[in-house]
Amino acid sequence: MKKLPAQKVEELLNYDYHHIWHPYSAMHGEVPVYPVISAQGVRIRLADGRQLIDGMASWWCAVHGYNHPVLNRAIRDQLEEMAHVMFGGLTHPPAVQLAEKLVEISPSALTSVFFADSGSVAVEVAMKMAMQYWHARDLPAKNHFATIYSGYHGDTIGAMSVCDPVTGMHGLFAESLAKQYFAESPNCRFGSPCTQMDMESLTNLLENHHQQIAALILEPIVQGAGGMRFYSADYLARARKLCDRYQVLLIADEIATGFGRSGKMFACEHAAVTPDIMCIGKALTGGYMSLAATLTTSEVSQTIDQGDPGVFMHGPTFMANPLACAVSLASILLLDDSNWQDRVNHIEQVLDAQLSHCIDFSQVNDVRVLGAIGVIELHQAVDMKSITEQFVDAGVWVRPFGKLVYLMPPFIINDSDLTKLCQVVSEVVGNIPD
Ligand SMILES: *Cc1c(COP(=O)(O)O)cnc(C)c1O
Repeated sequence: MKKLPAQKVEELLNYDYHHIWHPYSAMHGEVPVYPVISAQGVRIRLADGRQLIDGMASWWCAVHGYNHPVLNRAIRDQLEEMAHVMFGGLTHPPAVQLAEKLVEISPSALTSVFFADSGSVAVEVAMKMAMQYWHARDLPAKNHFATIYSGYHGDTIGAMSVCDPVTGMHGLFAESLAKQYFAESPNCRFGSPCTQMDMESLTNLLENHHQQIAALILEPIVQGAGGMRFYSADYLARARKLCDRYQVLLIADEIATGFGRSGKMFACEHAAVTPDIMCIGKALTGGYMSLAATLTTSEVSQTIDQGDPGVFMHGPTFMANPLACAVSLASILLLDDSNWQDRVNHIEQVLDAQLSHCIDFSQVNDVRVLGAIGVIELHQAVDMKSITEQFVDAGVWVRPFGKLVYLMPPFIINDSDLTKLCQVVSEVVGNIPD
């Protein structure tokens, strides 16, 4: 389909406006939504026929671009066998094959896999694993969490409690959430070393409260929706050591960073760190559908088994959905067969070469690039309505939040599309009134 009749488009938008919520939006919001009818490669086609170059990969997910023949085929083939079957008491090849692949590509100690239905749920599962682990070890007081400011771990109640109370978007709920322990966000940037001073806040926190703390949860290297900050690998390595010293588990939330985005398959690899529990999601299915997973060590899973009640207390209805598992496996195999490291390194170079000059604009506070992520941090929050219109009119899809305008395109993007994205972003940012 190339476009929808104008009348249809209007009906669609009208119903949407009156009845449907979008992420973090008002029901009758000022910021328009744009109707999409199809997407192909790095292009999103709007209902009026215009095409936009995708700078977001649908929030870290669509690493291979849209409508990929290999991923389409994986879903179609699986659909012919079964779309879904309950996972309680049953298992199936897509789940087993995917688990095997995940165990193969993740840090080697992580050998137990729990399939969850979204990133937030994978984080809830990770937190429950950590609590059940200490319960089984007869230290039930270790049922709180340590984390660092500027983090984001999802929108459900448990995940919200470890999001940054201000930038993590959930300040409103603070009173009703579990009180967790927050350390300063690392000030040492990616690529620079980290001093004892940089570790002080986390060290003090763990020293003073480790008896109450089940795990330290953080996003390795790249803090996503809580601020798009890239911190030193040295910090992560030292945090791992602190966890060992104070008997605290380490949960790595790789939901945004997993599957190559930061230049490594998993961002933990920048610091050669193995977490005790790792959450993955987002790009897991290549952006096709919702699936996430929580991986842990046999030490954690066996301890949970040996404790009371002898089982891990979680089990989603759509656990290990066969369609989602099949497309995930196909997506990982596709990554394996692509030269994704070279692609991501190249995207990093182009983003660096074409965005760095934005630091000269008076509106801009910082420009940073890591892997296939380019971030322009402004002094002021952007006007979403106006900036979105400018991007769409210029033929690109870029969705800023707050002070951050950022690009994380599909890995398959070519140089001319990437250059166009960077040029439009530079122009639009440069034209923001001071
Ligand atoms: C997106 C995200 C989540 C939440 O995942 P959902 O699938 O939106 O529930 C959790 N942690 C991080 C780091 C994320 O980027």
